[in-house]
Amino acid sequence: MYAARRKGDCVWGIGRLRCTIAALCAYASAQAPIAAVAGKPLRTLTTAASVRDLPAAEAGREYPVAIRGVVTYANVANGELFVQDQTAGIFVFVRNSKYTGLLEWGRLVEVDGVSASGDFSSSITKADIQVLSATTMPKPLRGTLDHLSGSADSQWGELKGIARSGRENNGLLSLNVAAADGAFLVIMRDYPHGWKRELVDSKLTFQGVLAAAFNEHRQAVGLRLFVPSMQFIHIDDPAPQSPFDLPMAPAASVGAFQTSKDEIRRIRVRGTVTAVVSPTLAYFSDGKSSLAVELDPPGSMEPGELIDLVGFPGEVEGRPGLKNAIWRLIARGRDLLPQQATANEIVTPEDQNAGSGLAIAAGTRYDLRLIAIEGTLLQRGDGPHSKSITLTSMGQFFSVSYPDSAQKTIDEIDVGSHLRLTGVCLVSYDEYRRAESFRLLIRQPGDIAILSRPSWLTLQRAVWIIGLMVLSVIAAVTWITLLHNQVAGRTEELRVANERLGRAAAEDGLTGAANRRRFDELLKHEMSRAGRTNAPLSLVMVDIDHFKALNDLYGHQVGDHCLIRVVQAIRKAAARAEDVVARYGGEEFAVILPNTGDEAANGRAEVIRRAVEELEIVHAGAAASGQLTVSLGVATLWPGSTYAAEELLSFADSAMYEAKHSGRNQVVSWRGVDVSPLPASVPDNASA
Ligand code: GH3
Ligand code: MG
Ligand code: MG
Repeated sequence: MYAARRKGDCVWGIGRLRCTIAALCAYASAQAPIAAVAGKPLRTLTTAASVRDLPAAEAGREYPVAIRGVVTYANVANGELFVQDQTAGIFVFVRNSKYTGLLEWGRLVEVDGVSASGDFSSSITKADIQVLSATTMPKPLRGTLDHLSGSADSQWGELKGIARSGRENNGLLSLNVAAADGAFLVIMRDYPHGWKRELVDSKLTFQGVLAAAFNEHRQAVGLRLFVPSMQFIHIDDPAPQSPFDLPMAPAASVGAFQTSKDEIRRIRVRGTVTAVVSPTLAYFSDGKSSLAVELDPPGSMEPGELIDLVGFPGEVEGRPGLKNAIWRLIARGRDLLPQQATANEIVTPEDQNAGSGLAIAAGTRYDLRLIAIEGTLLQRGDGPHSKSITLTSMGQFFSVSYPDSAQKTIDEIDVGSHLRLTGVCLVSYDEYRRAESFRLLIRQPGDIAILSRPSWLTLQRAVWIIGLMVLSVIAAVTWITLLHNQVAGRTEELRVANERLGRAAAEDGLTGAANRRRFDELLKHEMSRAGRTNAPLSLVMVDIDHFKALNDLYGHQVGDHCLIRVVQAIRKAAARAEDVVARYGGEEFAVILPNTGDEAANGRAEVIRRAVEELEIVHAGAAASGQLTVSLGVATLWPGSTYAAEELLSFADSAMYEAKHSGRNQVVSWRGVDVSPLPASVPDNASA
């Protein structure tokens, strides 16, 4: 069988029948279990249409197939083989099949295999393919793209369109073709070397196998046309010889093509590069309008360069643009003047445009334009690799993308800095094409200018400073209070010390009575006061009797003690606040009795004498009494007296000596010539 086939001497009719039977036998022995399950042998399908008509599951049962038809497309290396008979075209899994001879388009073949569910429609697999003579190609199916998609799968057909771009891959050219009602892909094995110049932008008619492009759910999603040879391509209207010789069109005209039903041919636009997003996407401006351009092949251009573009008008990134554009550098680096813009001019705030269509115009005025805008840096991108920052201006937020070259500049800007940025404005629109938001595309570090750094005094810092100030005030108040308390303590100590010193200066150290110096002061003071107030003043001199003898008998220490006790006794007797008790000399005391007449003074002196007597201090040296006694002399000055203090003293002293001479332990009042008792109206308080 195989030998006969290899020779290619099988004839139509008998030969075909023999082959079919042989194939069936081979198939039956190999696929016995399936046939057994089916119960009875499956009928043999003899037309492509009958195979295609099988539902996928049914075709999967591997019905015997024996058809004869012409090869419409064969790429054995890729496992592609389309055969078409009188009824339909069908796909054959050539990799699971055996064949002899040259399996090429235009050859008549006998295919003996089994049905398969196929990837999109029922197909043939596990076939013995016998290549026969060359034959004519079928009559092509004609129709719109829409009409032919899906239903005409695997059929030989014809489509018209304008080639937009192409890609060579593994000896295959896949050509993107735009038709009036859509786009399709042409796959070609055999294509001219200069296909780009020759085919791109030409209006073409293709004949080939219409193959559905499908998804995993066997749904047709597009159409491919497998064109076996260049001879099935007819150039109806060639592309311009030199695309860059096309007449120049304004960028603004691009938008007009989008809604047009006309066949779209390439146009030429001259513009300045405003920004390069990627090797395949850049933005241009011709001074009036802007364009987004899809570069094909990818380009490396710089902002500011003047470029000639030739491409197909269409929508790029949701904007008027050129697709599959080729380009040519006209002039290098021109300085573009940015347009001044504010956030509210680009995106009109909601409350200002409610119900009006103004926002549409506002946004598009800046879209894709090089603008200069001010804003405050709010935050950097999330990670070290996201090259974007967020700015705020007029209550709006916008993000700014920047190139790697600007990273260092960006890193040095503090958040909160006020910036002026130059870049391409990209506006986002809502479903009604109202400007919704915008972002900025920075081209180089020079596009960033820092207008002002953030105020040093941030809220956080202010809180810290106030906190520190409060703490300082608390510390200062605490310190001052401590200091104040210390000073107060010291002052009190000083006061006590001073008092002590004062007392020491005015007191007698042994008895606590006023000392001689203090006595002299007080006497003068009291005398002048007595003069002012017209009051009498008395002075009593007290001298201890036989004191020397007491010292001699009992010792000085006892003598000292007696002195103390005598002072206590005198104090008790002259107890008025104004009375002054002073130690005048060794064992001699003086008592000033202000506002006291001679009688009262005499009485007071007598009280003193008795008080000492009542101490009952034993004194063996006092012959008369046997105890300690005192002798007292009293002198009184009446108002109007002209005597001085010394004289008063000497009067009292002489009275005291008189008391000594008169036997001691007694009071003697001085009665000098000057004694002039006042009339009865003058008070004598001391007697009270
Ligand atoms: P008369 O009755 O005449 O006053 O006799 P008198 O001994 O008291 O008189 P005189 O003036 O001769 O003696 C005073 C004595 O007082 C002499 C001295 O020893 C004594 N005297 C003076 N000051 C102190 C003192 O501070 N302490 C003691 N223990 N004795 C003193
Ligand atoms: Mg004396
Ligand atoms: Mg004495």
